[in-house]
Amino acid sequence: MQPRAHCEGEHPLASASQARVHVASGPPGADAARHAGSSRHANASGSRTVGLGIRPLVVRAAGVDNVKGRGTLRVMNPNGAPPHVILRDCVSYDPERIRTIVREGLQEMHLQPHGRTLVKPNLVAAGEQFPHAYTRPEFGEGVLRALQDVGGEKMSELAVGERCGITVPTRLAYAQSGWEAMVARVKGVKRYFFEEEPQVEIRYTHPERLRDYVFTPEPVARADFFVNCPKLKAHPWTTVTFSMKNYIGIQDDRHRLIDHDHRLNEKIADLQYIIQPQFICIDGIVAGEGRMLTPKPFDLKLVAMGNNQVAFDAVLCHVIGVDPRSVDHIRLAEDRGFGTTDLSKIQITGDLSLEAAKARARGFEVGLIRVEKYFEGTKFTAYAGPPPQGEHTDYCWGGCPGAIEEAVEILRQFDEEFDEKSPRMHVVFGAYEGPIDAREGEKVVFMGDCATWKGQLGGELVQITSKYKDRATKDPHTAKHADIYAKLVSVRGKLQDARGASHVRFEGCPVSVAEQVLALVFLTKCKNPFLDRTESMRFNKAYLSWRAVTAYKRLTGTPYQKPGPSERGEAQPVVGRTTDGAE
Ligand code: SF4
Repeated sequence: MQPRAHCEGEHPLASASQARVHVASGPPGADAARHAGSSRHANASGSRTVGLGIRPLVVRAAGVDNVKGRGTLRVMNPNGAPPHVILRDCVSYDPERIRTIVREGLQEMHLQPHGRTLVKPNLVAAGEQFPHAYTRPEFGEGVLRALQDVGGEKMSELAVGERCGITVPTRLAYAQSGWEAMVARVKGVKRYFFEEEPQVEIRYTHPERLRDYVFTPEPVARADFFVNCPKLKAHPWTTVTFSMKNYIGIQDDRHRLIDHDHRLNEKIADLQYIIQPQFICIDGIVAGEGRMLTPKPFDLKLVAMGNNQVAFDAVLCHVIGVDPRSVDHIRLAEDRGFGTTDLSKIQITGDLSLEAAKARARGFEVGLIRVEKYFEGTKFTAYAGPPPQGEHTDYCWGGCPGAIEEAVEILRQFDEEFDEKSPRMHVVFGAYEGPIDAREGEKVVFMGDCATWKGQLGGELVQITSKYKDRATKDPHTAKHADIYAKLVSVRGKLQDARGASHVRFEGCPVSVAEQVLALVFLTKCKNPFLDRTESMRFNKAYLSWRAVTAYKRLTGTPYQKPGPSERGEAQPVVGRTTDGAE
């Protein structure tokens, strides 16, 4: 990939009201997305301001000493307060009760919502099929009203923003989840559908980064007071989805799928450099056990609040009996100076003690399960080899194998005859070298760019070669959106071409949950959730509105992607150094 040159002169910057425009410059010529293991930048201190030349305040994150001995503390929480987690008992989704709890939490942490205040819920999937996958609207209502109570006129804007999952228009997730109606009821709250907003470039300069720049929706980049409002759930790829994992929704589809593979935990750790919340508030009243899209409800009756993502996620890990440092993205974020997992350094308050919360969560299942095991006892047999060499793992936890598990769970939920309808089939991931036990007529599906295999199928020699492209070749500037209807056509076309053949190969890194749902629909003849008649009207309305808004913006001169420096709000983390006293 050709390095891109950015110069400040390219961008109209720095009116008086843009004093916070921020550029984090990488070294010259290092703009190309980088492959881990390639040369690293020695200097993570590229932060500087442009425009009025006002330097961002570098606030040391108190209570963080995990980088002692390494000589640097690189990342600063925008509120800079000592890590504090509040655990509150909350037995039901009563918006007024939640409002009181959240208001008290903000006050106890001495937090004042101000400027552009942005709330990021988790609406990854909503509607009847996904009743426990998302932050409930009653919870959101309590949070928004509490922010209004405490922030008042100090907030120039109070907004909610999200990009939901599985290629569904976010407008639909807002409507299905009840957030649309709730936001209208609360009044004075703006909604952002992140895939309809301009995407701005954020430069990374930390040495461990997977690439030099990423894109995020403009409202995220410009937020002054950021409120992370996730759902407390297990996750089959990353063990848990608490505050840090909720950041997958601060990227649109074309960007979130880049590095959504065996380096997913590193991607999540990298996303922390885009923005840090001053306030975190998780919906753990009915938590989600086992899975991410179709979790089992777990009556936890917990509202947890915090001011530091690492500390917050660490405390919740302890609540459900998981060692926080065994969760890669939490460990990576701690090692990079985002916070501490050490309970002795985290102030924990509230009317629910940690021990009482742990007792409530006893038996909570996280559901981290390899795909071979997941399919045991079904008509599917899975075979998983390692993802590409040199990427230090023997299994792709963040990509295709986990996506098929979520796809199957969606289809089971949607069509109770899914397992009955499924023919016997075989699914292969990664560089698999063993035998495939396929009989005559049983289809073998090779999933993903990195699948490789050689052997006899149906009496003929089959050789599947890797189509994996190094991540350095994936440039966020040129990433393209894969439309759900385009996916539908392409998956169906591929399977039609492979009719009667012993095998079929799906390309992509990853092959997304939506594509795997569609592939399984055509292979098993089960019901297609994307063509569900009860939701198709709403789906199409949301889809057409989305496409119309983005087309209108393009036609009226607003580019979808804005490369180069962008205006930043106060919630940006600041990269600094401690030992030499300089940034
Ligand atoms: S193709 Fe799929 S399994 Fe292979 S590295 Fe990419 S996401 Fe992982």
